[in-house]
Amino acid sequence: MAASMASQAVVRALRETTSKHRLFDKFKCARLSSRRWLNLQEYQSKKLMQESGVTVQRFYVADTASEALEAAKRLEAKEIVLKAQILAGGRGKGLFDSGLKGGVHLTKDPSVVGELANKMLGFSLTTKQTPKEGVKVKTVMVAEAMDISRETYFAILMDRACNGPVMVGSPQGGVDIEEVAATTPELIFKEPIDIWEGVRDDQALRMAGNLGFKGPLESQAADQIKRLYDLFLKVDATQVEVNPLGETPEGQVVCFDAKINFDDNAEFRQKAVFAMDDMSESDPTETEAAKWDLKYIGLDGNIACFVNGAGLAMATCDIIDLHGGKPANFLDLGGGVKENQVYQAFKLLTADPKVEAILVNIFGGIVNCAIIANGITKACRELELKVPLVVRLEGTNVQEAKRILSESGLPITSASDLDDAAKKAVASIRK
Ligand code: ADP
Ligand code: MG
Repeated sequence: MAASMASQAVVRALRETTSKHRLFDKFKCARLSSRRWLNLQEYQSKKLMQESGVTVQRFYVADTASEALEAAKRLEAKEIVLKAQILAGGRGKGLFDSGLKGGVHLTKDPSVVGELANKMLGFSLTTKQTPKEGVKVKTVMVAEAMDISRETYFAILMDRACNGPVMVGSPQGGVDIEEVAATTPELIFKEPIDIWEGVRDDQALRMAGNLGFKGPLESQAADQIKRLYDLFLKVDATQVEVNPLGETPEGQVVCFDAKINFDDNAEFRQKAVFAMDDMSESDPTETEAAKWDLKYIGLDGNIACFVNGAGLAMATCDIIDLHGGKPANFLDLGGGVKENQVYQAFKLLTADPKVEAILVNIFGGIVNCAIIANGITKACRELELKVPLVVRLEGTNVQEAKRILSESGLPITSASDLDDAAKKAVASIRK
């Protein structure tokens, strides 16, 4: 029981790191990988859309309330929409810790935009797609509002089941698309795209029709769909989501919201796009870990787990739980390990004030245990380790590793196997 609870915690944590890609789950399309993908803010995505001839409303971006007020005046629009920029959806129905309700506000009076922006900037916005504590808003988008007579949903995403891109659309778009997918799945339309042929005219028109666009709006929507696909290819996206793709009473099809995810493997040829990544919403420890090619996931206990491989990470968390302890995090060292990486890993783990003990559990298959042992002893000396350290090493060159550790004269507890290691780590805190 306890063991499976720890696994659940790890799975939850892993899932949270990919929560920005929940769309794939939402429409039961296969997820591509658990790697972190580049996410851009709505305003950045809209700039890319504009460059591909996709229709978006006029907008400015502001970091301060006075800039927002200025922008609102400069727009000279009948109505203005102020939108908090965070990397999560559901903003319309979100809540700020300033008390302000909604991350998207419409107003006909530009003079109130400053006040509204004041209640957004520097405050955290919680939506159903953010962590509980929300995400701090640093930028707002000030845009021309338009009357929307109908809101549809449209996305293009990579789908493993289709072996390529697929269009997903619904005539019932807007803020409750998750609900539509759950309660009326027949209102979600999918259309696989042949990667060689691209979006055919008949496909674009069929999708536009399924989205409920009629008369001249149908061909306008089909044209937008084709342009969105051009963008999808041009920027190596894994997802382009527009919710709502709306129609105005004046007869225009407009992309009112934008969410693009990118394929990290294309970074080498998408330098301009990747340069827009400000990493400001990433967990700083995760970002620092990624710099050294380490994977870090924070949990809420007090025993740091230093492991190699996700499977071993889960097993380690489970066994700590089984012996009455709680993992504080896990840091996955991966394959081709270098001594300096071990040092950096220890630096990250010891910087966490929650950590009261460290458990190293490394199985040296490709990894040479002696490299790990050297990294550990160096880190212990230079970082003046203050918490108990339990080490279990197994595999390649383990005898040499054990010799390095025991001759180091450092207070390192060695463990014979995983069970022994977990028991000793838990006991070291109880002392
Ligand atoms: P989120 O998906 O994060 O809730 P959206 O950008 O989709 O944010 O905005 C939420 C809702 O606000 C939209 O469904 C739409 O009804 C309204 N909205 C957004 N932009 C505009 C706009 N330019 N003009 C009028 N209404 C808008
Ligand atoms: Mg939206």
